[in-house]
Amino acid sequence: MTAPLYIAYHSVDHSIDYWQKHLSPLVPGIELVHADEARAQEAEVLLTWNPPEGMVAGLKNLKGVVSLAQGVDHVLNGKTFPSHLKFARLIDPYMSEAMAEWVMLTVLEYHRDVPQYRAAERRKDWIRLEPNIAADTTVAIMGLGAIGSVVATTLTKLKFNVIGWSRSEKSLQGVTAFHGDDGFDACLTQADIIVSILPLTTETENIYNSTTFSKMKPGAAFINSGRGKQVVEDDLIAAVDSGHLRGATLDVMRVEPLPTDHGFWDHPKINVWPHVSAQTHGATSGPQIAEAIADIRAGRDPRNSVNIARGY
Ligand code: NAP
Repeated sequence: MTAPLYIAYHSVDHSIDYWQKHLSPLVPGIELVHADEARAQEAEVLLTWNPPEGMVAGLKNLKGVVSLAQGVDHVLNGKTFPSHLKFARLIDPYMSEAMAEWVMLTVLEYHRDVPQYRAAERRKDWIRLEPNIAADTTVAIMGLGAIGSVVATTLTKLKFNVIGWSRSEKSLQGVTAFHGDDGFDACLTQADIIVSILPLTTETENIYNSTTFSKMKPGAAFINSGRGKQVVEDDLIAAVDSGHLRGATLDVMRVEPLPTDHGFWDHPKINVWPHVSAQTHGATSGPQIAEAIADIRAGRDPRNSVNIARGY
């Protein structure tokens, strides 16, 4: 009988059985073990979402880590990550498509004046508002990476005027792409709807605050599915309450789950989603996790390696 292949596991998102089920057909002999068990000390790879500080450095046989998400802030930010380890993340086309669906849903809510029509329905009021023309509506996608580029392209298919922002220069058909600090301001000042899908790094933490909200067009809507810590939440409430912003739709919060006494819950112009816009799925991401495990064990750089110095 061949010895089991121990792979360490730590996540609060899915059970260990969930991943065991999805990875067993793909990785011969795999046995997931909780990262705090003694057997995990034999593991060369850790699969994780949000390991506690010290867990990664404490696994002495480790060659690398696989993030069970597209984001990596939950593994890197404020935590020790030994420099000899390889680090892979997910880049799952299913997640880009799921995010594109969610962004379409939320953008169309504003574009088709859903809040006004639902309020009118509650009043039994047969109102008909002036229609908005997609081509006259500018949607900015902040972050044109694996997910943002698919979201931006999907929005062009509905004829929106799509602009976007990234760190490096980009060329995407039908999208006016900006980069750098000037590009950030250009997007904020032009967009009717701002959609942020940025990774959380030292550069993007608190990037949406009273100063940057004030640069947004009066009446703009703000949508965030990147990370909650990119938004100064009191500043967002102030920007909406003052009437400067039309409203906000948020899938991510500074503290998750959102505390029950948080001002977002009851705010009539702020829509709360429980971090579900693009969820990790075992069936769609299993093959690339299996591939990353094989690469890390063989000492190869995994296909979707994280640039640790850059933080995403
Ligand atoms: P990605 O492929 O790494 O793309 C990140 C994009 O952000 C890139 O275009 C990058 O520019 C840009 N960017 C990063 N830092 C920047 C900066 N300082 N200035 C300007 N642009 C910057 O990431 P992804 O896979 O698309 O995912 C993006 C984020 O979405 C994840 O990190 C995660 O936080 C979030 N997410 C949320 C959910 C959810 O359910 N809510 C699901 C999945 C992911 P370059 O292209 O020039 O590098």
